[in-house]
Amino acid sequence: MKKVSMIIPCYNEEGNVKLFYNEAVKAYKDQNYKLELVFIDDGSKDNTLKILKDLIKEQDCEIKVLSFSRNFGKEAAIYAGLNNVDGDYTVIIDADLQQPPELTIKMANILDENEYDCVCYYQEERIENKLLSKIKNVFYKAMNNLSEVELKQGASDFRMFNQKVKNSLLEIKEYYRFSKGIFSWIGYNTQYLPYIPKQRNSGTTKWNFIKLLKYGISGIISFSTMPLKLATYSGLTLSLIAFIYLFVIIIQKLFFEISVPGYPTVISCILLIGGFQLFCIGIIGEYLGKTYIETKNRPIYIIKEEITNGKNKKSI
Ligand code: UDP
Ligand code: MG
Repeated sequence: MKKVSMIIPCYNEEGNVKLFYNEAVKAYKDQNYKLELVFIDDGSKDNTLKILKDLIKEQDCEIKVLSFSRNFGKEAAIYAGLNNVDGDYTVIIDADLQQPPELTIKMANILDENEYDCVCYYQEERIENKLLSKIKNVFYKAMNNLSEVELKQGASDFRMFNQKVKNSLLEIKEYYRFSKGIFSWIGYNTQYLPYIPKQRNSGTTKWNFIKLLKYGISGIISFSTMPLKLATYSGLTLSLIAFIYLFVIIIQKLFFEISVPGYPTVISCILLIGGFQLFCIGIIGEYLGKTYIETKNRPIYIIKEEITNGKNKKSI
């Protein structure tokens, strides 16, 4: 019997984890798969860990709970999960039941056919705010044009994959992780299926506009050096324009006795070019900062506590 391991990142999900467990167990009850649930408590400040510790007493499936020493973010939680699952298939799924656990059965059935290595659900309809959805679409377009990876609109990390894919994901040990890009970068045959996400069962989303923007910029920086090239090209273009303008002024002064433009033009040019230079230095700074952190080789996460319900044969 094949084993499906679910990686469930949880950050302040006290109202969801128990229900998630019930739904997952119900979905796999009469299926021909063994189920393993790996909950990663990403430094929750509410009762999530306490509820997870109570869940450990349940014996319907294998349960493992890893608790981080602080909030390291969903990407770190996913990586910790990948390091701690041993199922034939691994699926990454949110704890808030927006992604119904029963949908994962279809993914496993597809992987059983051995034609695909990875199955990914993409949001057919976004249930979020229209403006945010538009901004996300622009981001996907930018990412696809600027970087070497191709992202599918609406595809998140709600994916199931086999052990080959899992091992490839584990080989990517970078600190700034952008799963959507990593999945695309490693390749493999992926089947995309549409789904309509449900409303969050309880609690609120952990994302706001600023966090999403930072995550998006970090994603572009992780997978593309195009912003650096754009800075170079626009710097060159600006220099060329400045050179032509200089030439025009000299001709005007020498042959037409026209006075050179004065103070306002000079100030505007200095401010414009100064601002542009700072912007370019900022881009370089972003890359440098990220490179600096990567070279420190710090761990992606720190586990404070780990418990299992004893059904997991391999101890971590
Ligand atoms: N999450 C996490 N660490 C964080 C933020 C989120 O583990 O720092 C988890 C969260 O508990 C949930 C999943 O990531 O299971 C998706 O988060 P959320 O529902 O807030 O994102 P959205 O569905 O709104 O994109
Ligand atoms: Mg959610």
